[in-house]
Amino acid sequence: MVRAASPGAFRGDVYSDAGGERHRDDRTVADQVTETSPNSLPGSPATVAGAAGVRGRGNEAKLAASIADRIVDDIARRGWPEGEVVGSEPELLERYGVSRAVFREAVRLVEHKQVARMRRGPGGGLVVTPPSLDSVADAVSVYLFYVGAEIDEVFEARLALEETAAELAPSRMDEADIEALRELVAREHAGNPRRDHRDLHRRVAATTGNPALELFVELLNRVTLLYLPRSAHFGSKELDQSARAHRAIVAAILDGDEALARNRMRKHLQAEAAYLQGRRPSRQRLADLTKAVDRTDKRAEATARQIFTEVAEAGWPVGMLLGSEADLMARYDVSRAVLREAVRVLEHHQVVRMRRGPGGGLFVIEPGIEAVTEAVALHVDRRGIAPLHLFEVRGTVEMTVLDRVIATLDDDGRAQLTEALAAEQAASPEDFALVGHDLHNVLAHVAGNRVLELLTVVLIRVSQRRSAALAGTPDPLPTQDVIHVHQRIVEAILADDASLARHRMRRHLVALLDCVR
Ligand SMILES: [Zn+2]
Ligand SMILES: [Zn+2]
Repeated sequence: MVRAASPGAFRGDVYSDAGGERHRDDRTVADQVTETSPNSLPGSPATVAGAAGVRGRGNEAKLAASIADRIVDDIARRGWPEGEVVGSEPELLERYGVSRAVFREAVRLVEHKQVARMRRGPGGGLVVTPPSLDSVADAVSVYLFYVGAEIDEVFEARLALEETAAELAPSRMDEADIEALRELVAREHAGNPRRDHRDLHRRVAATTGNPALELFVELLNRVTLLYLPRSAHFGSKELDQSARAHRAIVAAILDGDEALARNRMRKHLQAEAAYLQGRRPSRQRLADLTKAVDRTDKRAEATARQIFTEVAEAGWPVGMLLGSEADLMARYDVSRAVLREAVRVLEHHQVVRMRRGPGGGLFVIEPGIEAVTEAVALHVDRRGIAPLHLFEVRGTVEMTVLDRVIATLDDDGRAQLTEALAAEQAASPEDFALVGHDLHNVLAHVAGNRVLELLTVVLIRVSQRRSAALAGTPDPLPTQDVIHVHQRIVEAILADDASLARHRMRRHLVALLDCVR
């Protein structure tokens, strides 16, 4: 399991909170790590036994989350055996030693993470499902909706990743890739009615041999479509145009012309962005279309969807009380069990939180980056993606962030960078482990593109976990070196020396990469 394999990894994950007030999202995340994630230390006997021994709804909820994590861990240990039944309900009830109610709630969460699904009937049980990007796309859309990210921010991130993919493809393709690219172009040219213009983008990313790049390209392609009404999806004229552009991109890749491939990809994406900008994209649609609640029309999911829509339409009033459990059961005309299941799903997505006791009820919370991190981490683990691959994507994203910072820096940005450096320099050696990546997060924040910021933070966190899970905590770079390099990077940025800043950042990322290897 990707999640904190050791207390060290866990500490590393919340480093940002030690960095000060800059990161609203990180503070939220840290809150949630302490308040709602007993699952941060999966299967911890203290958590499970402690919760089981106490009666009360809050503890039952935590217990369900913790059992869900144990189920996922157990499936991970078995190597994600797709299609296999890992146990019938009675077997699993016995294995995990919990009540049927808690177990079913845990299963709902596992289903929601798209790891396994309960199959009823003879020979039924908990079946491992194929990996899917849906849960990642859900988490990303909830977050982007909340922070108000616009479609042009998604495109800017796509440009960064897909230009890199086009540029890397020529030197990395093998004969199977060549055949696949040729076949795809031929299929698009023939006007196959079932063609999906995203296939080419996926295929070019796959040609780089970097599954992390493939994952994020696919993810952002999907997220782009979430901003659009169905009617704005490509018609046959647009598909013909994109087929021509795709053919030109593939020709450049097959010719081994990296610069041309990159340039053609850029032009193609810019044309697509211009087209889609004219089709009334709206971040509001992230809330309409989000699969934050499953596609099945079960009662609990329908209720979760209603609550989600209500929160979104109210402008996401963080801290607002939506009602007591009794109020909500009446309002949505559902049983307690159904409401609790709905709440569990929404808590998983960091939309609401149920507080027990006097003055309690269902409250709107601030979605953190943690839900996205969790979903990406799970996917990365299932796909067996290596830290090196994550790092390559991180490098691309961070260089784009740097360019953006240099192009748009204002006084406020300067102040934030200076402050981040001061905090690093003032940190004690023990604290440095916690704030040592902060400059990267602050740069991403100052860059002002919420999608790039999300990617930066998630990539840093997921690669830290992945490295820790694979090899124990990796040796960090010596603290003084990092402080020095960070300072030199910031100096070049403040001096508006783009070439030098880029050079220093590139060197720094290469040095970090050596720690990942
Ligand atoms: Zn295309
Ligand atoms: Zn650094």
